[in-house]
Amino acid sequence: MATDPTLGEGEKVDVGLKEQRPEQSAIKAALRAAEALWQRALRDCALCGRCAARCPIYDQEGAGQIGQSFAAAAGLRMLEGFCENGEGHAPAGQAAPAGARWNQLVPEALAQGVREFLAKEGELYHYLRRCCLCDHCTAWCPSGLATTATVKAWRRVMAAAGVLDARESQSVLVDQPWHIFSVYRAVWGISYPEWPDLATVAPETVDTVFFPGCSLVSYAPELTRAVGRWLDEAGLHWALCLDCCGSPLVSAGLAERSLALRQRILAECLAAGVRRVVTVCSGCAEELGAVFGGAVEIVSLPQLMCELGGNLPGGSQAEREILNQVQDDAGGVRDIIYAIHDSCHDRAQTSGAPLRALLEAGGLGQLRELEHSCRNTACCGAGGAVAAYDPTLCRERAETILSAAAERGAGTLITTCPTCAYTMAQYALEAPAESVFKRVQCKHYLEVFCRQRVDWDKVFAQLGGMWTGQYAAWVAEQLG
Ligand code: SF4
Ligand code: SF4
Repeated sequence: MATDPTLGEGEKVDVGLKEQRPEQSAIKAALRAAEALWQRALRDCALCGRCAARCPIYDQEGAGQIGQSFAAAAGLRMLEGFCENGEGHAPAGQAAPAGARWNQLVPEALAQGVREFLAKEGELYHYLRRCCLCDHCTAWCPSGLATTATVKAWRRVMAAAGVLDARESQSVLVDQPWHIFSVYRAVWGISYPEWPDLATVAPETVDTVFFPGCSLVSYAPELTRAVGRWLDEAGLHWALCLDCCGSPLVSAGLAERSLALRQRILAECLAAGVRRVVTVCSGCAEELGAVFGGAVEIVSLPQLMCELGGNLPGGSQAEREILNQVQDDAGGVRDIIYAIHDSCHDRAQTSGAPLRALLEAGGLGQLRELEHSCRNTACCGAGGAVAAYDPTLCRERAETILSAAAERGAGTLITTCPTCAYTMAQYALEAPAESVFKRVQCKHYLEVFCRQRVDWDKVFAQLGGMWTGQYAAWVAEQLG
């Protein structure tokens, strides 16, 4: 018997070896999935170091040139250590028989082993918490290895072992009825009764779903409605989905809950007879696509806008031609200079390429491409739930992108992802006038097409206000 450090005084758990039990605990399921991934990563990694060279945090973590395999190797070393008598990282009191494997240990012993291992491997832990899951490394791996898969596997193990503080992700448990987005919409009366909801729509009455994603559907209802009206005008039979794609759950190490959420959305699509989902955010497209396979087609909104041509959300093609006249908030400079920030989930350019075509067709000023764009794009700072661990790094990531735009002479940065726009606006809120957050205006592409800014000052005031207003007690109850 040994005392689990996370339990209260006097509480004890049995961490001895037992026969393997038929039921699969969360920690065993997480470790089993991780072990397979880590083994594959080590087997296939050519140790070329390309991933490390493109990652802004690898070098800082002391990982040097060995690339993503260091996290996989550490994971396998940890598993081996669980069963080494008195060696490695076996929990105190463990005495594994010769040839024992980690999965013969009881879950509590494994969780304790993970905690002890990560407590000793500070650099690894620091890396796992600071990875923004941006996939820049992955985009250039000659072996087709996804570093993010290794990190996500680690995050899942960390969550199952109680290494990640559950309170960090309390407000983004988006598979629950109440989370930061649904609470915000409830408190501020944001709803869309004019359109059918995917969850309740009658079968075979729609063939398309509009999936705005949590940020847009919650913080930018006017832009969401502009797209809705445009879909109506285009004669599409569609329903709205208010769900989140589950990305925050993955970042929090709750991959299996994210999977269940996406499977539920797919089931709703199939039950309704939906054949196409239109996403605004490339991150949503990526998350949903991983589960939907070919069962339901996923199309980015810019792609659909290109396919349908003619009218666009916010006005006719003729009006597009004066886009550049209305873009400069200082008073109508015709030839605005802008840059585009691609989402790190859009390295394949399913949003970025059609967006560029639309902006060019609309006659919007001059595009100055950034070094980190398209396949090479960088994270805006929002990815991977890093803000809860290292908010300074997140701010630096955002600042780097805006500074690059400023250096290219761009006064406007157009994003393909609503969460990027939210992130930039959040930093702009407190920034001094001379800051790059104020000098370069960040806009989501729908703000450009609809010629309507999201009132981020109001959004942030309302986000803060709901904790002190008339619903404060209810908000606290739902969000913890
Ligand atoms: S996903 Fe991004 S932050 Fe994470 S290891 Fe790859 S390049 Fe680095
Ligand atoms: S780029 Fe791929 S093959 Fe090269 S070190 Fe990184 S993971 Fe290994």
